[in-house]
This record gives sequence, C-alpha cells and structure tokens, in this order.
Amino acid sequence: MLMTEFTIDDRNRIRRKPDRGRFERDVIYPIIDEALICHVGFVEDGQPFVIPTLHARLDDSLILHGARASRMLKHIQAGHPVCATFTLVDGLVLARSVFNHSMNYRSAVVFGRGRLIEADDEKMHALEALTEHIARGRWAEARQPTIKEMNATTVVGITIEQASAKMRTGPPGDDEADYALPIWAGVLPLGEQAGAPLPDPRLREGIPVPDSVRGFSRTP
Ligand SMILES: Cc1cc2nc3c(=O)[nH]c(=O)nc-3n(C[C@H](O)[C@H](O)[C@H](O)COP(=O)(O)OP(=O)(O)OC[C@H]3O[C@@H](n4cnc5c(N)ncnc54)[C@H](O)[C@@H]3O)c2cc1C
Repeated sequence: MLMTEFTIDDRNRIRRKPDRGRFERDVIYPIIDEALICHVGFVEDGQPFVIPTLHARLDDSLILHGARASRMLKHIQAGHPVCATFTLVDGLVLARSVFNHSMNYRSAVVFGRGRLIEADDEKMHALEALTEHIARGRWAEARQPTIKEMNATTVVGITIEQASAKMRTGPPGDDEADYALPIWAGVLPLGEQAGAPLPDPRLREGIPVPDSVRGFSRTP
C-alpha cells in the first residue's frame, strides 16, 4: 500500500478550520480501521440517504456487505458515486461558555465508486476482512460461510478515489474574558471500551472465552 496523500480538489478541500485537515493515507486509514461503523451517503432521484453500516478496508477499497435486497448495495454495485464518513469521538470539550462547547474527534470522509465483488475467493477475502473488523481473530474462530450464505450476501468494494480527515484535540478555547469565570472547564475523555463478555444463554458448557474477545481492542 502506498502511504501517499490523496489529491485535493473542491470535493475534499477542507474549508472550515483547514488547520484540522489531513489528506495522508497513513492518517486517514487508521481512522477508518478503528471506527466500528461508517455512514454511507448517496443520492437517488435527488433524495439524499445516509445509511449506517459495518465496513472493512482492504488497501484502497472500502468493503461493505448485506442482503441482496439492500437499496444501498444496489446503488453502490451499479457504480454510482458514494460518500462515506467515519467518526471517532475522543472527548467532550466542556468550555466555560456554552458557545465554545465542542468535541475532540478524528473523522474521515471518503469519496468513491463501487463494484460488485463476485469471484468466490475475492468475496471470501472480503467477508474475512469484515469479520476481522468486528473482532480481530474471529474469522478463524467461527464457522466459515456456506455456499447458501455466500449466495445470500452481496459484497461490494468501493475504490477510495479521494478522502480527507479532520481532527480536534486539546482543551476548550474560551473567550479571554471567560477564563476568570468560576465555571469548571476541561475535557471528558471518551472512547469505545468493551464490557464483560455475556455468554449466549445457549452456549454449550465448557467453552472458554476466545482470544478475539479476551484481547478485544479497537486500536488498529
Ligand atoms: C464529532 C464531531 C462533531 C462536530 N460538531 C460540529 C458542530 O456542532 N457544528 C459544525 O459546524 N461542525 C461540527 N463538526 C465539524 C463538521 O464535521 C464539518 O467539518 C464542519 O461543519 C464544516 O462543514 P462544511 O460542509 O462547511 O465543510 P467543508 O470544509 O466545506 O467541507 C469540504 C470537504 O472537507 C472535508 N471535511 C469536512 N468536514 C470533515 C470532517 N469532519 N472529517 C473529514 N473531512 C471533512 C470533506 O471532504 C468535505 O467534502 C463536527 C465534527 C465531528 C467529527
């Protein structure tokens, strides 16, 4: 994979607070890989739709899957343009003034066009990437898909043509006069953390919690 910058034009140029923008693959791809879900935006007959879904990334492609009847997947496999966003919230920024409240975040916006992934080996590799995106190591632990399950699943790959990342870090930025106010201000860090695993009530006895669950972490 080439760790280069995406080309910048009117589609992905960050106009609002451009100092927070980044265009390098090695900044953008870790955001995509850490995010559990993405939101896929597309326009049909002039109506915009934004649909949340599970994703994975393989090199410069975004992988999505779902039922054959999915409108979103039909739109993507037809090669129409799509935009997907990924958001990681790192903290709540609590300022002295309500006006300056914000969030610390890392987000990515990608643009591209999709294609149907049909070849069995490529489709299997894409499904493995989606499973591994949920929990690293899970593909090898779980039962592999049957031909019937494969046939019932549409898998698409979206070539990432352009992308941008934007991020905010640091404390609140209050107005100078407000720093004298007797109001608590600061950052409340937030992150995605797993709780204690809840075994399926129908789990057979004697099956230990597997590595993918014990070692779960969202950090790529
Ligand atoms: C958790 C979170 C909370 C936010 N809260 C607010 C809020 O309350 N109000 C607000 O105005 N903005 C908020 N933002 C920032 C928001 O995402 C936009 O960046 C901002 O509103 C400017 O939008 P625009 O369409 O004018 O951007 P423009 O700068 O005109 O967008 C041009 C291009 O820049 C890129 N771009 C823009 N925003 C992002 C982004 N966030 N990540 C990656 N690429 C981007 C895209 O490629 C886009 O096509 C928040 C962002 C996050 C992640």
